Amino acid sequence: MFQYEKAWQDARARIAAAARACARDPAAIRLLAVSKAHPAEAVRALHALGQRAFGENYVQEALAKMDALADLRDVEWHLIGPLQSNKTAAVAARFSWVHTVDREKVARRLSAARPPALPPLEVCVQVNISAEPGKSGVVPGDALALAQQVAALPRLRLRGFMGIAEATADRARQRAQFRVLGECAAACRAAGLAVDTLSMGMSADLEAAVAEGATLVRLGTALFGERATGVPAF
Ligand SMILES: *Cc1c(COP(=O)(O)O)cnc(C)c1O
Repeated sequence: MFQYEKAWQDARARIAAAARACARDPAAIRLLAVSKAHPAEAVRALHALGQRAFGENYVQEALAKMDALADLRDVEWHLIGPLQSNKTAAVAARFSWVHTVDREKVARRLSAARPPALPPLEVCVQVNISAEPGKSGVVPGDALALAQQVAALPRLRLRGFMGIAEATADRARQRAQFRVLGECAAACRAAGLAVDTLSMGMSADLEAAVAEGATLVRLGTALFGERATGVPAF
């Protein structure tokens, strides 16, 4: 418990320092705790400290954790891993947010499967900002069109964009890639679509993401420690 408390306080202080360094309001940046590969009890420990938003990559793993934590009524679950279209019904029923919508088919299926008793599913369009082959996400030039399709679906609420920068220690390179996500949001606003979320920045690059306008940073290692080897980072 104390281990998590220090890590959680340190992460929040790091976000606040990154915000101040570029004259941004720290309150405008949400912390998403990425609990993939960590047990339900780790989620419970952070929840006890006040953390509410948790990110998971793998649907099966997430559903098991949700069941184990069913007594916690106010956890906000975010899917941040690739979404196969055969998993959309479970995702639409159990998650509050999906950050990884990268094609219209998945968006349509999520909207159709979102239970009427729940509010619309919060959605970010994933953009391949690093331009690395094999990485998930639409190319930046297709981001607006997919965002418009998401916005038109009745049971989805378009929130913005999500991106993963290349694993590099080069801060300028990280920033150039995160800037692409801000440009997608600007193109949306110019087209009359409201977006309020830039989901970008992880344990290794949150400062660059905050400098480029991140409104939600996704931290795993910084909060929970290293994941067991063999578990892919994304
Ligand atoms: C695993 C993961 C994270 C968290 O990464 P850390 O480096 O552990 O902070 C964030 N975003 C996505 C999409 C991930 O897959």
